[in-house]
Amino acid sequence: MTRKRVLTIENLTFGYTRHALLYSNFSLSLYEGEIVTILGPSGSGKSTLFELIAGNIKPMEGYIKKERFSQVFQDPYTSFHPTYTIKNQIEDVADVSNMDQLCKEMGVEPSLFEKRPHELSGGQLQRASIIRALLMKPKLLLADEPTSALDNLIQLDVMKLLLRTLGQVGILMITHDRDLAKWCSDRIIEIG
Ligand code: ADP
Ligand code: MG
Repeated sequence: MTRKRVLTIENLTFGYTRHALLYSNFSLSLYEGEIVTILGPSGSGKSTLFELIAGNIKPMEGYIKKERFSQVFQDPYTSFHPTYTIKNQIEDVADVSNMDQLCKEMGVEPSLFEKRPHELSGGQLQRASIIRALLMKPKLLLADEPTSALDNLIQLDVMKLLLRTLGQVGILMITHDRDLAKWCSDRIIEIG
């Protein structure tokens, strides 16, 4: 069976200034069902790579082709608006008709989503953000340090939930955490 390629990056070159390039001739292919991790220290250009993939900034050279994508961000509290319920905010961007079903499959209590963000723990909220991302029916999931704002014990649970989405998507994750990268990745690409 041939797997679908969900992200192609070819010969990407980018820096905010010409004399400080973050990547030069960087290439990467990602397939559905695969988790690839970009590993690099703070300031090495990991978040910038996602900005380039999302199309928010343009490469200097090279080419990026992607399937439909959604994102999980580092800080779950800033990725939801504080005054509306989680469910309201998911409804704004995705079809929630099978939200409860997905929650059950993912082992998340659906009634949590009737609450506002500050009523949930960081781990619960990051689970909600993974479910929101999945309900947007992406082929590609971009996860920027998805567990780094969480307690150690919760990190593992949230990471396991993210890995359970792999049946439906390809995941590109970025982290500075080498142990996490080794534990969960099909491939690791080091930058910086
Ligand atoms: P990482 O996510 O790996 O910590 P970033 O992609 O956020 O790294 O940043 C890479 C480098 O680019 C850093 O030196 C950062 O200061 C710089 N940088 C990030 N965003 C901008 C911007 N909008 N304009 C200029 N420089 C930036
Ligand atoms: Mg970053």
